[in-house]
Amino acid sequence: MENHSKVNFENSYNSLPETFFKRVKPEKMPDVGLFLLNQKLSDGLDLDYSWLKKKAGIQFLSGQNLIKGSEPIALAYAGHQFGSFVPQLGDGRAILLGEVKDKNGYLKDIHLKGSGKTPFSRSGDGRATLGPVLREYIISEYMNSINIPTTRSLAAITTGEKVVRERLLPGAILVRIANSHIRVGTFQYFAARQMTKEIKILADYIIERHFELSLSSKNIYEKFLMEIIKSQANLISKWMSAGFIHGVMNTDNTCLTGETIDYGPCAFLDNFDYNKVFSSIDYQGRYSYKNQPNIILWNLTRFAETILPLIDNNLNKSIKKAEEILNEFASIYESNWISIMGYKLGIDEANKTDKNLIEEFLTLMQNQQLDFTNSFYSLSFLIEKDQIEKEGPPKSHRIYSKIKSSDWYSKWKKRLNVNKKNLKKILKTLLINNPSIIPRNHIVEKVLNDAIYENKKDSLNDFLNALNDPYKLRTFDDPYTKPPSPNEEVTQTFCGT
Ligand code: AMP
Ligand code: MG
Repeated sequence: MENHSKVNFENSYNSLPETFFKRVKPEKMPDVGLFLLNQKLSDGLDLDYSWLKKKAGIQFLSGQNLIKGSEPIALAYAGHQFGSFVPQLGDGRAILLGEVKDKNGYLKDIHLKGSGKTPFSRSGDGRATLGPVLREYIISEYMNSINIPTTRSLAAITTGEKVVRERLLPGAILVRIANSHIRVGTFQYFAARQMTKEIKILADYIIERHFELSLSSKNIYEKFLMEIIKSQANLISKWMSAGFIHGVMNTDNTCLTGETIDYGPCAFLDNFDYNKVFSSIDYQGRYSYKNQPNIILWNLTRFAETILPLIDNNLNKSIKKAEEILNEFASIYESNWISIMGYKLGIDEANKTDKNLIEEFLTLMQNQQLDFTNSFYSLSFLIEKDQIEKEGPPKSHRIYSKIKSSDWYSKWKKRLNVNKKNLKKILKTLLINNPSIIPRNHIVEKVLNDAIYENKKDSLNDFLNALNDPYKLRTFDDPYTKPPSPNEEVTQTFCGT
């Protein structure tokens, strides 16, 4: 163990009972190398970027050399996978290295994914491969850049190993940063074992660390449930507004601090389609685009069940209270969704009466097979004629003419009531809420292929830089704004474990 004070570790999760985790060391890897390192994030975490880039830093980031204060553990959790309960999952290929305070004083988890086997590995090999690791890096960092709560990616490390999948693939470790790795499934792990004392310990831990609630306040666990519901309603409405499909919303992939976690088969919509499913294993469309709000409520209900003993000693009373709180989800979600989608239409204070206008725009996109991102992005150019051609899509663009010739267009213009006085404000709202770029599947695949198999990292770096500037004005000739041609289209994504 290196006696180094480069990182000031805290280990608050380790102070919980031993049943919450297993102490475990990352496995030794043949030849670790730095593939990507996130300078902005490193600075935000108050880490020493130039040290992280050096050999000692890479040894630290890959778990090869534990530094003073790091007490790595694998976390126990359970979860419903595609609706079926699995009483024991846990970090099968991941390790919590420790926690560090960021520049704002918030405690963040430093977590390694792909760092080797743990007691929770079941039949898995504890490995991750470079493709999915880079995919998570790209997409999670993009989510952050459009203000969607998410785990972050600090580094992608190659391990020098060949990992056995459908063929041999290069091994990798993702260094992931999160507010928390406590999932609905963490509560389910203890509930399935009737370990009520542990449920209270876990609830108190997460409340103290992550919520602005006082443990001594009245009805604290009801308030806690309400906060969890609000944060998930916020998160999922943001996913929907970005055309994001998570793809594997199992309860073990629902993080209770309201951030997007576990980027497996996730993807963004090109053409809008309510029923879109990308994941190759989601045969029933359980996690389709339009089902995401229903599924999160299902997951939240599973969560509420685990804390029933904390809400009230009388089970019937407890169920009644939990139901009352869960019933609030629909209206909280809807008002979040209307507000965010309203912004995307240039409406600053959208309300219930705008719901139809929003839905009609989605229907127009669905019926006319319009690209989700580019349709929203076109709107600012549709209200300000002079901008078209100069900076935006060409006048003759298909999206532009389809929107302009629709009934929806005149309703929208009427609602906005554009005049000389409010034009600037509306344009600003449109431009800061409608990114010109998303990590489109076909581009992600291409840059990953170049970086991994062709030894060309430039396109990956260029793409990462572009994604980091999502609201930049781009024309529809820019290759990053172009939807895939029929032969480029990626119709399926894979978990890639
Ligand atoms: P995921 O589908 O990535 O959310 O993972 C579901 C469960 O499978 C978690 O408990 C993971 O830790 C575990 N898991 C996934 N891939 C592997 C692997 N290669 N080795 C061991 N465990 C794994
Ligand atoms: Mg998972």
